[in-house]
Amino acid sequence: MNDNVDVVVVGAGNAALTAALEAKNAGADVLMLERAPEELRGGNTRFTGGIFRFSYPDLKALDALLESDEDLSDVVVEPYTSSLYRDDMDRLSEGKNDPDLTSVLIDSSYETTEWLHGLGVKWEFARTAVEARAPESGKLGLQLGAAVRTRGKGPALSETLFSRAQEASVAVQYETEATGLRFATDGRVDGVEILGPGGPSTIECGGVVLACGGFESDRDLRRQFLGDGWARVKVRGTSFNSGSMLQSAIRAGAGTAGDFGDCHATPIAADSPDYGDLKLGAETNRLSYPYGIMVNCHGQRFADEGEDFKLYTYAKLGKEIQAQPHGLAIQLFDAQATELLEERYHHTTPLKAETVEELAALLEAAYGSFGVHKDDIRSTVETYNKATSPGRFDPTELDGLGTRGLTPEKTNWARPLEVAPFTAYPVTTGITFTFGGLRIGPDANVTTPKGASLPGLFATGEITGGLFYNNYPAGAGLMRGAVFGRLAGAGAAAVARLGRIR
Ligand SMILES: Cc1cc2nc3c(=O)[nH]c(=O)nc-3n(C[C@H](O)[C@H](O)[C@H](O)COP(=O)(O)OP(=O)(O)OC[C@H]3O[C@@H](n4cnc5c(N)ncnc54)[C@H](O)[C@@H]3O)c2cc1C
Repeated sequence: MNDNVDVVVVGAGNAALTAALEAKNAGADVLMLERAPEELRGGNTRFTGGIFRFSYPDLKALDALLESDEDLSDVVVEPYTSSLYRDDMDRLSEGKNDPDLTSVLIDSSYETTEWLHGLGVKWEFARTAVEARAPESGKLGLQLGAAVRTRGKGPALSETLFSRAQEASVAVQYETEATGLRFATDGRVDGVEILGPGGPSTIECGGVVLACGGFESDRDLRRQFLGDGWARVKVRGTSFNSGSMLQSAIRAGAGTAGDFGDCHATPIAADSPDYGDLKLGAETNRLSYPYGIMVNCHGQRFADEGEDFKLYTYAKLGKEIQAQPHGLAIQLFDAQATELLEERYHHTTPLKAETVEELAALLEAAYGSFGVHKDDIRSTVETYNKATSPGRFDPTELDGLGTRGLTPEKTNWARPLEVAPFTAYPVTTGITFTFGGLRIGPDANVTTPKGASLPGLFATGEITGGLFYNNYPAGAGLMRGAVFGRLAGAGAAAVARLGRIR
């Protein structure tokens, strides 16, 4: 057991591992604390699809990461410039995102993917993000900004970073929960209180990085901050992100940022487990709704399924589903959509019928106790079909093929549901992570509510707030954790070194 180190990193996900590696690189002794047992280590990071959102000025820069393992001529993908990234962040967070943190995130994004590449992280096209092909060219449509993911997704990313940490002699204490922070009389953080297999104790240190996630796994905190209905939602990832150190840091004087009443939540299969299952990873997501329609238990549509590409809408749609009766929705498709459904739909056997009437009857038989009536479903499909118009359908772009006269309208990809067989997939809300968190400066140093530094205390990843409000562009979570993780690790190591000199 280490009871005196330079830097303690709390957590063992992407944010923590990048911080630990950078602190080590700066010459510090580093100890990581992981609340989970070793076999469940790695937090939400291990569940991820491995998508990183980063800017790149041209396709050559993308090619350099992919090491020519992928054919750029077979895909529709444009350069994702810093200004496009900023537009996405500002648009999706409704301009509430901290401009300084946003600049750091964007400006360091490509260089951070190169750094990860140097550590052995491999990259590939994010094929399941959009498997659609352009009608004329037949090229694969990849989502701008989220075109690339780590090969082997979250598990491989986690494994690679753990291997590098082990090689660098970063110590990891498993089944050890950080429970509090200790401060010296001059205000510097100088220790972390823990509860490990040997009972409670304190680890003395020169710097601390908090990288232990949000509070999405804790039912009571969800109810307190997000509202009553959120106590019952399913958690897409780890069960260990309880927010205890977030609360502890706030009690110790840390400021907060972001909206504690908001979160990232997506449509997931209704029969998903209550917490993430490492065998399923991100496979429970059901994100092909732009190619069909979504109705609640009363057969009513409640969201514009075609508002934008799914990776710009999926993170807020979970909230819309949570607000529906029983927190349940049904995704309806016809045969035209079959080849566009993400591969992960194949984990579920849908309700299937040759006519909309038969499908509606099956739905009533299965979900009648939730208020589903076949006539409601049938009439919504009829009304929707009548509101569509003929036109060019292109899943690789916002094709403007919208409905007319509906509330809500469907803005893009609105083809009538008219080709048998018809399928129905029940979905519910899966919470991914919470948006409210610790206030940090551009150097990842935690600050007081008024913006003064808390010396020696740094934070990164989902425990921090200030970047995402209301919505979220896919891939920005891993990117945030790594960009600020590197800064946090280097910062904590520098403070610890200064402490040693004093
Ligand atoms: C199913 C799923 C798919 C996702 N896909 C993507 C994607 O493709 N791209 C993307 O950008 N984002 C994705 N995300 C979001 C993503 O997980 C994160 O933004 C990122 O991985 C978070 O990293 P983190 O290190 O901050 O937190 P985590 O990876 O959750 O790590 C938190 C760590 O802290 C530990 N811990 C918690 N409390 C304590 C404590 N008190 N003491 C000690 N240890 C503690 C946990 O055990 C864990 O090891 C996905 C999330 C889920 C759930």
